[in-house]
Amino acid sequence: MHPCETDVESYFRGSLATSDSTSIESHASTCRECCHRLAERAMTIARGAADCAEATALGRRELRQEPRFPTEAPAVLRFINPVRDDRLPAQVLDVSRSGLKIETRELISPGTLVLIRVRRMQIFGEVRYGICSETGFRAGIRIERVE
Ligand SMILES: [Zn+2]
Repeated sequence: MHPCETDVESYFRGSLATSDSTSIESHASTCRECCHRLAERAMTIARGAADCAEATALGRRELRQEPRFPTEAPAVLRFINPVRDDRLPAQVLDVSRSGLKIETRELISPGTLVLIRVRRMQIFGEVRYGICSETGFRAGIRIERVE
């Protein structure tokens, strides 16, 4: 059974009992529809949190404990600093309230500032790490601002 909206909201507020949170996460790991629903919700929260410096700072502290939701959204990266003229296609692998994990065809150095266009959003962020993967390279990006 899909979790109801009320439970999903409570989940993101952190006010849901641990056992209920676990059941939402395990349901989302097998239900594509809910997985996408939660990923969308996490992105909306990221956009809201970016408006509030305090929430963003809190998000950074909680980066590791945060729920992350897998997604398959195609994205395009632009390099802000160091600046580049070209654009790099990428795939968003998962998203949380304050960060994204992407897969792309080149290794991106930590500290690089990027602008990611995904769906109708533009996400400005800083690359925290870059690693090799079996199919290319992965990068973890801390969300600074969503437009
Ligand atoms: Zn479901």
